[in-house]
Amino acid sequence: MIAYEDLKRVNAPFFEEYSTVFQRVLHSGWYILGQEVESFERQFATYCGAEHCVGVASGLDALVLALKQMGFSNGDEVIMPSNSYIASVLSVVHAGLKPVLVEPDIHSYNIDPSLIEAAITTKTKAILVVHLYGQMCDMDAIMTVAAKYHLHVIEDCAQSHGAKYRGKMAGTIGDFGAYSFYPTKNLGALGDGGALITNSSTAAQQIKVLRNYGSSVKYVNDEVGYNSRLDEVQAAFLGVKLKYLDVINAHKRMLASIYLSELKEQFILPVVNDGYEDVYHIFAIRHHDRDRLRGYLLDNGVKTEVHYPISPHQQKAMKGVFTGGGFPIAEEIQNTVLSLPISFAHTEAEVLQVVDVLNKF
Ligand SMILES: *Cc1c(COP(=O)(O)O)cnc(C)c1O
Repeated sequence: MIAYEDLKRVNAPFFEEYSTVFQRVLHSGWYILGQEVESFERQFATYCGAEHCVGVASGLDALVLALKQMGFSNGDEVIMPSNSYIASVLSVVHAGLKPVLVEPDIHSYNIDPSLIEAAITTKTKAILVVHLYGQMCDMDAIMTVAAKYHLHVIEDCAQSHGAKYRGKMAGTIGDFGAYSFYPTKNLGALGDGGALITNSSTAAQQIKVLRNYGSSVKYVNDEVGYNSRLDEVQAAFLGVKLKYLDVINAHKRMLASIYLSELKEQFILPVVNDGYEDVYHIFAIRHHDRDRLRGYLLDNGVKTEVHYPISPHQQKAMKGVFTGGGFPIAEEIQNTVLSLPISFAHTEAEVLQVVDVLNKF
């Protein structure tokens, strides 16, 4: 059986280094907001080419804190894609704002910049873009609309560690890049974690206050803050893994190139565009008979996933949150999309086996 994901195998190459840094943190006696977090923040900012990085508890929190820092009023609107993971939408709801959905492009699966302008109202304050599956959004077009209407831009980079658009790293084009280090992400910890990157020192400082109970001086609280800190142990593990992020991404790109060159025409493959460096967090194909295809793959020893089977506008939790028309493109994607195995632990031989099974469908 070829697993969709095997986190033990993914992390096995780093076990020894993880053990070393774990001993270091253990014996330091300092477990929250110390040298490990500071050091990882510096390394990750440098890796991304951003001025600042602030570690937080999760990708969801990174988005919520970014939105909170911007000081919008309750009911202000945030434009975002109709086909993201629920966390992107939840961040807007938790920040007391109204998510306004815009359909993705059917080829890139990312927000269609040409549809953004029509969704803008007097209440619109920001665009929350999601670089889905490891491919960045068409940022030039998005930044042009944002500039025209003076909107903030937040990049959800939870699936795009190391991805680039016209030479720029994910998260460095908008006001904030929000990252998740959930274990399955390209840069995954051994627990929860997240970070924001930004070029604004004021914003970075405010996020540091917000993540720590709204306090910059111990027991002095100037703001209604949160407890949302990246912990020392996870930061230490992330410092190890960050050194290998380019190797991890190169491996995933190599596996993607096998799928892209070997899969038969009946499958709709991810688009590859000039000027984009994709990191294939997920390798999503589409097929009109997706559920039968998925069952057939399982019968033939290949496990797959669906990202995502229910769009946010169809989730029970989101009842009454969205106004406006239907979202047929999001629904078309949810009904036809299928994620193939493409982790750091998968071998060329395994991917060729998946190809072989798929091409016999
Ligand atoms: C994983 C993910 C998140 C949330 O990250 P957590 O660390 O699980 O909170 C947000 N947005 C997208 C697109 C994601 O894939």
